[in-house]
Amino acid sequence: MKFCSECASPVSLSIPAGDNRPRYVCSNCAAIHYQNPKMVLGSIPVWERDGELKVLLCQRAIEPRHGYWTLPAGFMENAETTGEAAMRETEEEAGANIKLGPLFTLLNVARVHQVHMFYLAELLDLDFAPGVESLDVRLFSEAEIPWHDLAFPTIRTTLELFFADRVKIREGGGYGFHTQDITRTMRSDLDPS
Ligand code: ZN
Repeated sequence: MKFCSECASPVSLSIPAGDNRPRYVCSNCAAIHYQNPKMVLGSIPVWERDGELKVLLCQRAIEPRHGYWTLPAGFMENAETTGEAAMRETEEEAGANIKLGPLFTLLNVARVHQVHMFYLAELLDLDFAPGVESLDVRLFSEAEIPWHDLAFPTIRTTLELFFADRVKIREGGGYGFHTQDITRTMRSDLDPS
């Protein structure tokens, strides 16, 4: 940030008394502007009929990663719960009607100051349609997942964990709750060297 949101004077980075890391401090009113991680909430909408399982993905109509595929997800708003945020983003981006299930992944993306969470969700009908932030919305079987055209590492990680748990379910297990620290980037995924 460059200017104080209280008085519009320039801010500069300094370590306030009693603190141990640099903060934006106003040169005029001495207001300290703390910055904290953002929460990104999304869902894994699943359509399962006659033993066949598909997952709903959205093709992004906005930057970053325009044209790449993602689970419906976005920044949590003030005054809403994590579940409400996941439901809202799924409605906004995919026009999808879902029944929210348990939290499935909690992924720290410390590099970009974000925490991503994805809920399992049951897709209730096939009346979905792309919202303004999506070019397309489609159901994908595991074999059809566009692994090389996914938007973000947390999407890839969540889908990998989801299909790994499906194998465990076929062997009599259930879905787990997974927490990971994400250090991979899409570039390192596509070019392991
Ligand atoms: Zn100020």
